[in-house]
Amino acid sequence: TVRLRFAPSPTGFLHVGGARTALFNFLYAKKMKGAFILRIEDTDIERSEKEFEIGLINALKWLGLEWDEGPDIGGEYGPYRQSERLEIYHKYARKLVEEGKAYEVYAYPEEIEKLREKLLSEGKPPHYTKEMLKEFTTPERIREYKEKGLSPAIYFSMPRKEYVIDDIVKGQVVFKEGTIGDFAILRSNGVPIYNFACVVDDFLMKITHVIRGDDHLSNTIKQIALYEAFGWEPPKFGHVSMILGPDAKKLSKRHGATSVEEFRERGYLPQAVVNFLALLGWSHPEGKEIMSLEEMIEAFSLDRLGKNPAIFDPKKLKWMNAEHFRMLDEEEMLKVTKPYFLKFVSEDEFEKNKEWFIRLLKSIKDRVEELIDIPHLVEFFFKEPEIKVELAQELKEVYRKLIKELQSIDNWNEKNIYQAFKNAMKGVRIKGKDFYMKLRIVLTGKEEGPELIDIVYLLGKEKIIRRLEKQLG
Ligand code: GLU
Repeated sequence: TVRLRFAPSPTGFLHVGGARTALFNFLYAKKMKGAFILRIEDTDIERSEKEFEIGLINALKWLGLEWDEGPDIGGEYGPYRQSERLEIYHKYARKLVEEGKAYEVYAYPEEIEKLREKLLSEGKPPHYTKEMLKEFTTPERIREYKEKGLSPAIYFSMPRKEYVIDDIVKGQVVFKEGTIGDFAILRSNGVPIYNFACVVDDFLMKITHVIRGDDHLSNTIKQIALYEAFGWEPPKFGHVSMILGPDAKKLSKRHGATSVEEFRERGYLPQAVVNFLALLGWSHPEGKEIMSLEEMIEAFSLDRLGKNPAIFDPKKLKWMNAEHFRMLDEEEMLKVTKPYFLKFVSEDEFEKNKEWFIRLLKSIKDRVEELIDIPHLVEFFFKEPEIKVELAQELKEVYRKLIKELQSIDNWNEKNIYQAFKNAMKGVRIKGKDFYMKLRIVLTGKEEGPELIDIVYLLGKEKIIRRLEKQLG
């Protein structure tokens, strides 16, 4: 059975690119009835923060990408946080050293940096070799390390040969001989380097497929070399293209909101975000656009992952959100919109007037794109518009009549409201259009909004009469 993982580093929010990676791995795992694993790669001690890990976990859960094994729920191959696996990495690093495939290096970071600069200034690629790095291993240096309680760093002897990977997405990718030199796998503080920890973990966690962004291709060659050194079968790799902004440049902050957290805050539905992400590099075999997570799982296959860079179009995301919003049933709609109404009413009032809120939502649902639009769309229901509307004398007469007609309605429903409109206008020269438009402005302060009949019905007798009387003076 297949086993896939999402392995974020808790150094920031969950970005669109990371969320898409998580989603593709999730979809394939579920499609194949395999396992989806969450692994936290927190070996960059300086930049990793617990807060970010919590944020990532919440964002993934919000998206509905639940995992079968992970730091919070455990599993057969744990621990799932790299900082809790240091001994495992030490053991495997030692193994490579013993087999002569890796070696100890007693150099300080500044010295490595100098070496790099020297190679570059000589017009050579900054590829280290064992000969170069062993220079630092003098008896004094070893003594110094001992005194300071430091361990040597461990470097991997990168075989100088061509590597070819059969990428699920890109096809054959060839790394020419001499693409890279020896590289560190363990720092002198005992913390592993990403490429090493990743290989050890993917192997021990029995990962079968790794789908990730093609910014990782240069890591993949190092990882493949490590698998070979250990004599382990590597997983199948699939590298998807980076996500670009609408200007065809790499997606970044400049393009506006790019983290899942931001979309959540702006009132995007998780199903819309997930739907949108899926189509950044994958397509449904029948070209279907609006899909639930279940439908995506059902239709997912690796051969439909595209080679071309995907363009992140915020307008399309908005459109998808609107579509998914309209598809919600009444209960779901109430649930997701509730936070936006609490600006105007108490929780209690909201719960007691669900029927009314459902009616209200029906009247505005075609206008909602981001849920944060809602307060603006409904404000006038709760707050009297602060405007002065110029009304012609005849229109004032008609509205006075309308007040009487509305007052006499016993059964507050659309039919009776229509009748009241008609009765008020009977025998006067006022055009229906003026009657309705001005009434709308008086009641809402705006020239557009939901259907007038809905507005009147929802506002109720008292509020309407109060707002009309205010303008009639
Ligand atoms: N921790 C790495 C990252 O966040 C994981 C990359 C991988 O999937 O191997 O980019």
